Amino acid sequence: MPELPEVEVTRRSIEAPLAGAVVQAAVLGKPLRWPLGCDPAHLVGRPVGPVSRRGKYLWMALGQRPGHGPDDAGGLLLHLGMSGSLGFHAAGGALVVPAGGAAAPVPPPGPHDHFDLVTTQGTLRLHDPRRFGAVVWSPAMDLPPAAALLARLGPEPFDPALTALGFHARVHTHRTAVKNVLLSGQAVVGAGNIYACEALFQSGIDPRMRADRLSRPRAARLLQAVRDTLARATAMGGSTLRDFRDAHGMNGEFQAEAAVYGREGQPCPRCGTAIRRIVQGQRTTYFCPSCQKR
Ligand SMILES: [Zn+2]
Repeated sequence: MPELPEVEVTRRSIEAPLAGAVVQAAVLGKPLRWPLGCDPAHLVGRPVGPVSRRGKYLWMALGQRPGHGPDDAGGLLLHLGMSGSLGFHAAGGALVVPAGGAAAPVPPPGPHDHFDLVTTQGTLRLHDPRRFGAVVWSPAMDLPPAAALLARLGPEPFDPALTALGFHARVHTHRTAVKNVLLSGQAVVGAGNIYACEALFQSGIDPRMRADRLSRPRAARLLQAVRDTLARATAMGGSTLRDFRDAHGMNGEFQAEAAVYGREGQPCPRCGTAIRRIVQGQRTTYFCPSCQKR
């Protein structure tokens, strides 16, 4: 499943090639998780604005059509779901990948390509075999339908407004295991399973510990560990991802360097104790029973 670092790498990879482009057509494939919410023709003639990210959603601002007022503007809310990926095929025929891959002609949409945004600079294509992804038109991020989809997200990990004290206060309201609070995204978004396991290891916190018993200093260390882990994964993705249509590529790259994730029975890199594997909330947790304390 694409996690926050992959979505951020995707954002960075499509923003520059789309800057200054104007939409020429939108082509729909099979139905996605939610409908587009407008006639594809409604997108034609709009200049593409900045691409931003909120949690695992991307927001592509689209300006007003010629002859319309500012209230005609809006944007597309994009989600990669379980298996989605976005590729940009430049108008000249080069497939743009983050690491700068080989040029290839723009192929016609395949059986798993369910949304093409054709622009003056190239085609943005959503490839999504399982079709849990979505592309939704909205007049603004803070208006329906986008607002309802974004409303329940916790704070962004790199938002300076998220302080250690604020994070502690959010974690502290839960009596469940701290690992599950991380996965819920209510205290901070982006700590998917692999990143939650690694951040708990880095901060020396037992994943089974009750969230409301986490002290302020330990919450501060956990927030820092979440930030470090996500920053490392994003940097790794931006530098090593060869083909970002492979939505699982980045998790694999990061997993190869993980300290505890996927390493049951192997020695802890800090103390040599065998890494344990347990299941919490139907998700697998890996941790060091010696280094990570309640
Ligand atoms: Zn250890």
